[in-house]
Amino acid sequence: MRIVLMGPPGAGKGTQAKKLVETYGIPQIATGDILRAAVQEGTALGKKAKEYMERGLLVPDDVITGIVKERLKEIDVEKGFILDGFPRTIPQAESLEKILEEMGVKLDAVINIVVPQDELIERFTGRRVCEICGATYHVKYNPPKQEGICDKCGGRLIVRADDEVKTVEKRIDVYERETKPLIDYYRSKNLLVNIDGNRPIEVVFEEIKGFLRGEG
Ligand code: ADP
Ligand code: AMP
Repeated sequence: MRIVLMGPPGAGKGTQAKKLVETYGIPQIATGDILRAAVQEGTALGKKAKEYMERGLLVPDDVITGIVKERLKEIDVEKGFILDGFPRTIPQAESLEKILEEMGVKLDAVINIVVPQDELIERFTGRRVCEICGATYHVKYNPPKQEGICDKCGGRLIVRADDEVKTVEKRIDVYERETKPLIDYYRSKNLLVNIDGNRPIEVVFEEIKGFLRGEG
């Protein structure tokens, strides 16, 4: 199964991707996670990406496409993958098409998680992530068992650097201008599936699974 999870920042892509990984045993490829790891390690990629991420801007297409191309060469993607947060622009989508063509495979679906803007702000302000394993929580909608502590690894839960309200507004704006056109792009390729993401995490997950089982 080869799928793309699309939707505005904060829609729940990472949350659903992790649940899909558990159910289907295929890897999640989250460009945001890869970049955050590079920033934390202080690599050349991390230093370059940090400037863009801090301002809520997209990292240049060639940088991101290079990362994804390398990642898709790894053995664990043989049975499939879940792309989370990539592609985010039309040029990225075109590059992905070329990469997959070279691999001799095709996307099965692009799942677009639809959430209204006012709800997105609520999700950002409550988002907490584990500084060790990256697990995502929400103070109201998906709280950890013990406040401030990751259920999975005991790590400290922190606010993501780019979840500050001003940066969030910029990221939503960037989504509207640069990423939203992908909806029509994938619709015209008959790959787009819209999922109402404005419902509890488990309900959204059941609908995605239903679609993937061929019930959608
Ligand atoms: P994205 O990867 O699309 O940026 P996340 O998966 O990190 O989004 O989710 C953003 C925030 O919203 C997190 O705090 C997460 O726990 C919460 N969240 C995700 N899905 C839902 C949902 N269906 N209902 C309520 N909160 C959600
Ligand atoms: P995310 O974790 O998906 O919300 O991504 C966090 C940040 O990483 C974004 O605001 C961008 O700065 C950068 N980023 C992640 N994925 C991409 C991408 N496909 N193209 C460009 N920038 C990206």
